[in-house]
Amino acid sequence: MVDASATDRAVEAFSLLGDDTRLAILRTLWDAEDPLSFGDLRERVGVRDSGRFNYHLKKLDERFVRKTDEGYELRFAGRRVIGALLEGTYDQADDAEPIPVDGPCLECGAALTYRYEDEIASVSCDEGHDMLKTGVPPGIFAGRDDETLPRVFERYIRRQSEWTKSGFCPNCSGPTSAQVGESELWDRTDYTVVTFTCERCGQTLHSDVAAALLDHPDLVAFAREHGVGVRETPIWELTLLHDAETTVTTDPFRAAVTFRLDGDERTLVVDEAFSVVDVT
Ligand SMILES: [Zn+2]
Ligand SMILES: [Zn+2]
Repeated sequence: MVDASATDRAVEAFSLLGDDTRLAILRTLWDAEDPLSFGDLRERVGVRDSGRFNYHLKKLDERFVRKTDEGYELRFAGRRVIGALLEGTYDQADDAEPIPVDGPCLECGAALTYRYEDEIASVSCDEGHDMLKTGVPPGIFAGRDDETLPRVFERYIRRQSEWTKSGFCPNCSGPTSAQVGESELWDRTDYTVVTFTCERCGQTLHSDVAAALLDHPDLVAFAREHGVGVRETPIWELTLLHDAETTVTTDPFRAAVTFRLDGDERTLVVDEAFSVVDVT
């Protein structure tokens, strides 16, 4: 969790950024290929008054910007600020028109629709079964054609999930832990999900256990043997996910997920912490 001194440091850092000239300095240093001298930087930012410019630059010094022998350049924190601005993290997005998605709901087989409302993207059926749902910064979608948005979103959420499974929180980069269990979802009490929780910020990511195993090397290889590219195919078109079957046993807890393709099958068994303990 965030301690008081970290909060103080963050408040101070954010307050330093609350100024157009300072953001322009960061953006200019980002765009520059090499470090810039004081004069070059001031000219590119477009501030005539050198005293005023120096005042703003000093505010960024040490935390966001560093002065080297070659001139001024961005520190890591400065690059992260520009990355978040470009990604649109602090923008408010326009809600998009719903777009039909070419695949059935895993739960009920109904048609799926992509939506983006209040910076939350989702792929759901009309019965309210969310196949995919998460917050997405608007910059992810900027400049993309409408018909590609569901696929862009799907790739985004899969990368976020891979990052989480590798042990990093996509929100704060803190360490994540996994817990597999049966959960109440969509009027069912026997849904087997894996919940990843960030130990630092508490953000959680829930996934169907079969979907969470999609990028496991043994499953990727099994699908490849049958001509299916798991990573390249949108999740709603992966029939092996639709046909997957999960069986849970206790003492010790094990969830066995069987995937089927062309009459052939592969079973991956995970323990409570989502470690694969057996493949058959
Ligand atoms: Zn449904
Ligand atoms: Zn976190």
